[in-house]
Amino acid sequence: MTAITGPVRVRFAPSPTGYLHIGGVRTALFNWLFARHYGGQFILRIEDTDEKRFVADATDDISASLRWVGLDWDEGPDVGGPHGPYVQSQRQALGIYQQHSEQLLEAGWAYMSFTSEEELAELRAASEARGHKAFRFRGPERDWPLEQQREVAASGKPYTIRLKLPLEGETRFSDLVRGGSEIVVQHEQLQDIVLIKKSGMPVYHFAHLVDDHLMGVTHILRAEEWVPSTPYHVVLYQAFGWQVPVFAHLPVILRQDGKGKLSKRKDDVATNRFWERGYLPEALFNYLALQGWSYDDKTEIMSRDELVSRFSIERVQASGARWNPEKLRDLNGIYIRKLSAAALAEQIEPFMVQAGLLSNPPSADEQAYLLRLVPLVHERLEELSQAPELLDFFFQAVRPGPEGYDPALLIPKKLDAAQTLSMLRAAHGALNIVEDWQSAKLEAALRDLSERLQVKVGPLFGTVRVAVSGRSVAPPLFDMLAALGREQTLSRLSLAAAALA
Ligand code: GLU
Repeated sequence: MTAITGPVRVRFAPSPTGYLHIGGVRTALFNWLFARHYGGQFILRIEDTDEKRFVADATDDISASLRWVGLDWDEGPDVGGPHGPYVQSQRQALGIYQQHSEQLLEAGWAYMSFTSEEELAELRAASEARGHKAFRFRGPERDWPLEQQREVAASGKPYTIRLKLPLEGETRFSDLVRGGSEIVVQHEQLQDIVLIKKSGMPVYHFAHLVDDHLMGVTHILRAEEWVPSTPYHVVLYQAFGWQVPVFAHLPVILRQDGKGKLSKRKDDVATNRFWERGYLPEALFNYLALQGWSYDDKTEIMSRDELVSRFSIERVQASGARWNPEKLRDLNGIYIRKLSAAALAEQIEPFMVQAGLLSNPPSADEQAYLLRLVPLVHERLEELSQAPELLDFFFQAVRPGPEGYDPALLIPKKLDAAQTLSMLRAAHGALNIVEDWQSAKLEAALRDLSERLQVKVGPLFGTVRVAVSGRSVAPPLFDMLAALGREQTLSRLSLAAAALA
């Protein structure tokens, strides 16, 4: 395999047809890592020539999602650059594609095709009826002189511009991901694809290729689904007499069970959902780098800088990557645990505001309280969005009964309501006289009580836990009581006791 020498130029070229799929971010990330590792530029280009699938705010979502994950681009729609504009509809308006299709028409590498949709459908049906598996269209006009094509066009008949694919021969290209091995395709397997639609808009195959050339793209790292289209692209490069870039097709991302691709319908794949669920961009960045690439067979936690220095195209695998939501969640937990309490509080804050537990914007007191609570959940958080549900009882009233928790939760196994009631009253009494309201003192008071009452700590602590939090699984008890404060703790114990009296 030939060594990669900089400066390289790569691009991510999404179509704004909806929210950015997480697989798209993986493709963007590999391009970014490639540019940063080998030294060169990373370009963002918006491919919006498919009017039917265009979604107006998708471009903003694409930029925001990429930036959130931590990717930046050297050239692109918002940052500009020497090869702009970086949005294809704007390039179309400048006549860039038309000029290039004209060049191919003149050179006899393309022709105007007047076959209508209906005629095409009939031809396809007839071909199928004859038992042909694949319909490969070649229009009669491919043999007409260009003047004749122009005359019919001038009469107002709508037309597309198609590639005049050589009837014989073969096209070959190599792919860095597949170890540089060659892929060979016979021309009889290909057809005269449309380059420019009737509307005058270029199709992807044509527009991306013209742009890649004009933008000086040296390496094309894109999803594997484009492998079957690549022979057309190679033919087009040759038709223009342009240098063919180096291809590296990235493996598909399979669903967790390996059955099929990660799907928009069945999986949570919108990048903005990972923000909503509270993924840290560093964790997602790290995880996505491992979707089809590895450093060795064991290292998983890598910072951005480590990934940049370790990334290599040789270690991008050809076989499908496997999406594993649990693993991603674990990794997120690891990254969350690396944060300081203050950093975590800052990350959690928007989730608490959104859940209505903090004012918008939070007051200084609220922020200080949140910072105090963070250590209680720091170890357990795997998604930031879990924070409101783990912490809500610190901010809201907790009471037994129809509006709150089920009082039956208070009663430990093997004890009855009367015994629980006296335990709650005794706990209230014991805590009431603690002077210095801090975790160790609270613990000593309740341990002492358990001895005096001759009850095990398990049931005693469990009952107190339910009384103050309304749930049986909660953060460590004494830290929780300390953070909650004397007044709230005692009043919640009284409410619990009243429910059993
Ligand atoms: N616009 C194409 C897409 O969204 C780009 C494919 C490519 O990278 O060549 O899939």
